[in-house]
Amino acid sequence: MSTPLGHDTTASASPPLLVTADSQAYTAATQPHNSSAQQRPVRVAAASHPQDVATALAEVAALERSLGRPLQVVPQATGHGAGAPVGNSAVLLDTSQLTDVVIDPDARTAVVGAGTTWATVNAAAERHGLLGLAGSAPTVSVSGYTFGGGIGWLVRRDGLASGALRAVHYLDGGGRSRTAADDAADDVDREAIWAFRGAGGVGIAHTLEIDLVPAPHLHAGALLWHAEALPDLLAAWSATIGAVGAGVSSSIAVLHVPALPPFPPALHGKVAVHLAIADPDGPGGAVPLLQAMRAVAPPVLDTWGPSDAAGLARIHLDPPTATPAVGDARWLDASTPDIAAALLATAADDDAGVVMMEVRHVAGAPTRRPGAVTTAPGDFIFHAVAPLNLFPRERIEAAFARARSVWSSADAGTTPGSWVEGAASVPQALVPEVRARAAAAAAAVDPGGRIRRSRLLG
Ligand SMILES: Cc1cc2nc3c(=O)[nH]c(=O)nc-3n(C[C@H](O)[C@H](O)[C@H](O)COP(=O)(O)OP(=O)(O)OC[C@H]3O[C@@H](n4cnc5c(N)ncnc54)[C@H](O)[C@@H]3O)c2cc1C
Repeated sequence: MSTPLGHDTTASASPPLLVTADSQAYTAATQPHNSSAQQRPVRVAAASHPQDVATALAEVAALERSLGRPLQVVPQATGHGAGAPVGNSAVLLDTSQLTDVVIDPDARTAVVGAGTTWATVNAAAERHGLLGLAGSAPTVSVSGYTFGGGIGWLVRRDGLASGALRAVHYLDGGGRSRTAADDAADDVDREAIWAFRGAGGVGIAHTLEIDLVPAPHLHAGALLWHAEALPDLLAAWSATIGAVGAGVSSSIAVLHVPALPPFPPALHGKVAVHLAIADPDGPGGAVPLLQAMRAVAPPVLDTWGPSDAAGLARIHLDPPTATPAVGDARWLDASTPDIAAALLATAADDDAGVVMMEVRHVAGAPTRRPGAVTTAPGDFIFHAVAPLNLFPRERIEAAFARARSVWSSADAGTTPGSWVEGAASVPQALVPEVRARAAAAAAAVDPGGRIRRSRLLG
């Protein structure tokens, strides 16, 4: 038998997959991109072949019998979504070496290993004039991003990445190989694909099938201004955000700028206003917003222009290295332009207690397929991030509370779950009926609770 990526599933690695804390594989796997919670699992299994996932599950069952206590398996690709600590009642299943990518340019689809990052997928896709629906950071994996909804720079034209998920090849809690798809024969797999689309995922995925989209006229850029212009820039943003083209996705943010490239030295250590903006259909749609904001003050940095996948992955200016970040986020409604200036002003003081606060514009995003979260629950997203190595948690919580007192008037009712960095669980990521259906799908796939449930299930 072979997998969708052509691997022979009868081959099995002979040395044990589970390794202890004295091994290199253990050290590498337990350094997640989000380092806010400790990872000290009893063992690590690094899968480099889909069959390794089944082998790892079998070895965990054997280890459980020999230790005489229950163990859980925690799947992890990059650890951008790490939240709850991983302790010695868990085995960390590192999927980061499952990175094969096969593009079908005619069908406009990709089949990707569950540990593949967006940088790898889009580098392969753009050779065929196509892109996957990546988000701001190229180092995020397709799996956690897509299972958490996946809101990227093409969202207003092409929808959430969760809706572009065609099928998932995965293992259930008993180690059985399955395929989650809308046309699967078994109801468990039809419910599983619905849950993989935005409720955080169920079981352990080893291969994903996704849609790609054309973006031959892609334009993108990052613009930065000194924060003194914040009120006027936000007034210009609020007045024109509704006038941009239907494919233009953007983020307006306040940034506390580190003394690092790619930031211009003039902004090092300062507070800046940051516009990240993209349009897959050419430069025209962004003109009203860019003109209005450039007229307020000349930007210190302005990279707007024709772009490729790598350029698109740079516009949000995300930190490339691991950080102990904690975040807050919320879906907001169409009244957001009325409160955006007051909201972002809460992050503009030197001692604001956050390093980044943004408002993303996602209004009009189409729904590609049914799923737990494949329709954007709001027109905008509020998002703020602070690293625990810079601020005590109480100060960060106070900053989030100040912001909440402003955005609550535009609250659309749920949280974009995977945007809440460093949280062990996100209780309001799903409305109750969606959470109940996704929890039932997870229980059907894994009745014994062998696999740690997604933090989006609360
Ligand atoms: C710098 C940065 C920028 C970001 N930008 C965006 C953005 O623009 N848009 C957006 O929507 N999100 C964004 N995110 C959030 C990101 O989508 C989540 O952090 C996501 O969970 C990361 O997925 P991952 O697989 O890389 O992380 P991981 O921590 O490896 O995985 C996250 C979770 O996904 C599940 N999972 C992962 N692999 C598997 C598997 N094989 N089988 C079953 N479940 C699995 C698990 O529940 C796991 O805990 C960003 C995050 C960061 C840190």
